[in-house]
Amino acid sequence: MADSFDIVVVGGGPGGYVAAIRASQLGMKTALVERENLGGICLNWGCIPTKALLRASEINHLLHSLDAYGFAADNIRFDFAKVIKRSRGVAGQLSAGVKHLMKKNKVTVYDGHGKLAGPGKLAVTKDGKPVAEIAAKHIVLATGARARVLPGMEPDGKLIWSYREAMTPAALPKKIIVMGSGAIGSEFASFYLNMGAEVTLIEVMDRILPVEDAEISAFVHKAFTKQGMKILTGARVQGIRKGADSITAVVEAGGKVQDLVADVLISAVGIVGNVEDLGLEGTKIKVEKTHIVTDAFGNTGESGVYAIGDLTGPPWLAHKASHEAIICIEAIAGKHPHAMDVLNIPGCTYCRPQVASVGLTEARAKELGHEVKVGRFPFIGNGKAIAMGEPEGLVKTVFDAKTGELLGAHMVGPEVTEMIQGYGIARTLESTEAELMHTVFPHPTVSETMHESVLDAYGRVIHI
Ligand SMILES: Cc1cc2nc3c(=O)[nH]c(=O)nc-3n(C[C@H](O)[C@H](O)[C@H](O)COP(=O)(O)OP(=O)(O)OC[C@H]3O[C@@H](n4cnc5c(N)ncnc54)[C@H](O)[C@@H]3O)c2cc1C
Repeated sequence: MADSFDIVVVGGGPGGYVAAIRASQLGMKTALVERENLGGICLNWGCIPTKALLRASEINHLLHSLDAYGFAADNIRFDFAKVIKRSRGVAGQLSAGVKHLMKKNKVTVYDGHGKLAGPGKLAVTKDGKPVAEIAAKHIVLATGARARVLPGMEPDGKLIWSYREAMTPAALPKKIIVMGSGAIGSEFASFYLNMGAEVTLIEVMDRILPVEDAEISAFVHKAFTKQGMKILTGARVQGIRKGADSITAVVEAGGKVQDLVADVLISAVGIVGNVEDLGLEGTKIKVEKTHIVTDAFGNTGESGVYAIGDLTGPPWLAHKASHEAIICIEAIAGKHPHAMDVLNIPGCTYCRPQVASVGLTEARAKELGHEVKVGRFPFIGNGKAIAMGEPEGLVKTVFDAKTGELLGAHMVGPEVTEMIQGYGIARTLESTEAELMHTVFPHPTVSETMHESVLDAYGRVIHI
């Protein structure tokens, strides 16, 4: 006989486990099916372990900058295996934390692969063998996404790495090619560069971090180059040749073709949704470009089946997945949640220097017909940034010239990933320049750059 629930969630990432907790909070009998690790990509292979690695590379950078702070130390070195072990330990700790949260919230967890098996039914298997049949009024699909693989450049664990191999190398390669300069590619490029590897970053678009504001991309390009990274933009990897211990990428840029040789190539060229083997055939669920199509509340074309998170498309971010989870579950429970405004989802890249943004870029705001006022404030004008020894950064704000609405904010510099939320709140509250100028920012903090950027947009900047 089938186990019976009000809700079953398929996938235990930040979309799925948050959906399960919220459903349980709202009094629904809830189950969650996860085939690998609770916490999903985010906790096990994404957000968290990469931040643990980046922390190590920041420390390495800082240790090599000690002289600037009046310190001296000899024989600075690291044990790369320990760096990786720490990152895996952090991931393991958080995954165990999700297990605890499931227990605390009385969510029944099934270890296995979930697949739709007719209206209101889900089949769970493990290694091809049946584990359970579940009956549920509502089925939430939160199966996430995985790395896009270019034909002929499949990760082989040795010379071509996806993010999984890039997070768990046996040793630090000397020479690395990173293909793709989105958030994932830029973070790995920054990590390996700051750990001492020689890194070449290749981007097919005309600039790195192509979804960011053009000025921020240019700032990061300059900063990476200054740190010693080689960057090729408008460049396409046409093919690869594998040697015994090296890989050659044949790269075309500006009509010229060149061979780049490295120990390893990290492929970071995008994301595809996990839509396979979910039992979608014969349902009314629509898949477009490997992602499930939903309305603003997670409803698919099939009654009683919902989809959230990376599975439903970009932006592929953990906080987007979790927020969609809350909206979807509350709508199922008959509450009336607000639909999410995609423009209010902050995006962060934890490279050195960090990048964070929310809302429209200047170019996009203009394309949409806004007359804009733009403010800029460099970190070199900020006392705290100078005191910290991190005076490299920029805050750019974009306002609608007629209404004063904050259309977008774009930041590069130390800890901007922690600060962007200030502008996120401002956008959610539909703040104008007047409220932002009226807000008192504590001194000395790097956040004062946020205030100054707003002041600059209106010709009132103080410290430059
Ligand atoms: C290297 C890297 C760094 C990242 N850094 C950040 C970051 O700093 N900030 C950020 O916001 N985002 C980051 N992301 C993206 C983030 O990890 C994802 O947006 C987030 O994990 C999506 O959550 P999700 O719940 O939709 O899916 P996932 O986290 O992918 O979880 C889906 C889960 O479903 C399981 N599953 C799949 N199919 C089935 C099935 N049929 N049955 C049972 N279980 C199934 C999978 O095993 C997985 O555990 C990063 C991603 C990567 C790869």
